[in-house]
Amino acid sequence: MEVFPMIIDGQKVMTHETVGVINPATGDHFAQVPTGTSQHVDDAVVAARAAFPGWSALNQCERRTRLYELADALETNMPELTTLLTRETGKPINGYSGIGSSREVLGSIKWMRVTAETELPVQVIQDDELARIEVHHKPIGIVGSITPWNWPLMIAVWHYAPALLAGNTLVAKPSEFTPATTLRFAEIANDFLPPGVLNVVVGGAEVGAAIAEHADINKIVFTGSSDTGRAVMRAASKNLKRLTLELGGNDAGIVLPDVDPKEIAPKLFRACFHNNGQTCQAIKRLYVHQDIYQEICGEMALIARSIRNGNGLDDATDLGPLQNEKQLNIVSELAADAKAAGATFLTGGEVLEGSGYFFPPTIVTNINDGTRLVDEEQFGPIVPVIEYSDIDNAIRLANNNSAGLGGSIWSNNLHYATKLVARLECGTVWVNTHAEIQPNAPMGGIKQSGIGYEFGHWGLAENTNIQTIKISKV
Ligand code: NAD
Repeated sequence: MEVFPMIIDGQKVMTHETVGVINPATGDHFAQVPTGTSQHVDDAVVAARAAFPGWSALNQCERRTRLYELADALETNMPELTTLLTRETGKPINGYSGIGSSREVLGSIKWMRVTAETELPVQVIQDDELARIEVHHKPIGIVGSITPWNWPLMIAVWHYAPALLAGNTLVAKPSEFTPATTLRFAEIANDFLPPGVLNVVVGGAEVGAAIAEHADINKIVFTGSSDTGRAVMRAASKNLKRLTLELGGNDAGIVLPDVDPKEIAPKLFRACFHNNGQTCQAIKRLYVHQDIYQEICGEMALIARSIRNGNGLDDATDLGPLQNEKQLNIVSELAADAKAAGATFLTGGEVLEGSGYFFPPTIVTNINDGTRLVDEEQFGPIVPVIEYSDIDNAIRLANNNSAGLGGSIWSNNLHYATKLVARLECGTVWVNTHAEIQPNAPMGGIKQSGIGYEFGHWGLAENTNIQTIKISKV
C-alpha cells in the first residue's frame, strides 16, 4: 500500500505507527500516512523559522519563479494527482457538469500561476516639502495553514501560494480525512523550494490545535467549519496571531418568477449539487417564487433521478460518495429531521445500500425556515426548496441566518436582480450563477462565515504586515 510521508525541513518524515486513508467509495484503506503529533509541529516550526530569513530575503520575482516552477511540476504530475484526489475524496475524475478531480487539479495549477502574478507595490501616500510617506508590505513570518477535506488540493494552493509569494514560510496541516494529495503536493514542491519553506504535518484536531496555539507561528489561515474556526481563534489569541478564517456557509439562492424553469433548472441543480453539495459556497437553501415553484422542483427532480452515483474512477459516474462517514451521518440526520417535520421528498432521502458513503441527490419540498435542514449547513447532496410569494420576505429569510458566505438572485431582469442581490448579507453575491470564484476577485465570509479575504491583492495583503515609513524633510 502506498505510503505518503510528512515533509519537514525538506525531509520525508515517517512514524513507526501509520494511519490508513479511506477511499470513501469503498470504505477501504488505500494508502497510509504517518501519525503526526505536536512534536512534529514543533519540529516544523523550528525548520520554518530557520528558513524564513533566506526565503523572505529573496525578491518577489525570485519567489514568483519558484511558484511558476511548482505549477509546471504539478502539471507534469496531473494524471497521478487527479487519480489520487478521486481515491481520497470520492469525487469523480470528470463527473456531473465537469466539476471533478480533473477540474480541481487543473484549477489549482491555474490558481497558482495567477496568484504568482499578484503584486503589492510600495504606495507613496505623501511626497512634498515636509515628508515622504511610504507604505510597504512585509512578510509576517511563519504562517500556519489548516485545510478541510472538500477541495484539499485547491484550498492548499489558496493558502500556500500567497503566503509563499509574500515571503512567509509555512507549517501546514491537511484534513485527517484527505492528507494524501497534499502530502504528495508537498513532496513535489520540495524539489523547488528550499528546505523548511513548506512543511506539511498530518493529524486531526490535536495537531491542528498545536498549530493554532503555537507561540512561534505568526498567522493562521484556516478553512473549515465555523465551530472549529472559533476554537482556532481562541487558541490564536495567545500570541495575537493574524487570522484569515474561511468558514461554513448556508447560501441562499432566490429565484424570481420571470425565469424559464426548464432553462434554469440545470443551472440551479449544478449550483446546489456540484461536488455533492460539499462546497462552502454551494446553494444550501433555495427560495423559489410560488408561480414557478412546482415546475422548478419537478425539473430539478428529473435531473436528480438521472444522476448516476458511483465510484469516481468509473467514467460513467456523475456524483461520487460523500467524503466521510461523519458527513454522511450529518446529512442522514438532517433528512430524518425534515421527514419528521412533514417535508416532502421528491427524490432520495436515504443512504444508498452497499459499501461506501453514498447518498443520492435529494430534493426536499414543503419545508420552511425553522427546520434544521434549512437553518443549518447540510454540506451534502440534499437541498430544501422553499416556496415564497413576497420577495422582501424571501430576502429577509435569506438574511435571517448566522452564516454570510454567498447568495444569489436568479432572474431575467438583470437591473432589478442586481439591486436585490446587493441586499443579501454575504461576502459574495451573484446574479444568475453561484459559487463562481476566480483568483483575482476577493472571497471572504461575513457574520459567522469568516474573517478576512483570500485571492487577488486583498488575499496577498493578508499574508503581510504593513510597515509605514515616514522620512521627515524638515
Ligand atoms: P472542520 O472544521 O471539521 O475541519 C477543518 C480542519 O480543522 C481539519 O484539518 C481539522 O483537522 C482541523 N481541526 C479540527 N479541530 C481543530 C482544532 N480544535 N484546532 C485546529 N484545527 C482543528 O471542517 P471540515 O469538516 O473539514 O470542512 C467542512 C467545513 O468547511 C464546512 O463548514 C464548509 O462550509 C467549510 N468550508 C469553508 C470554505 C470557505 O472558503 N469559506 C471552504 C471550504 C470549506
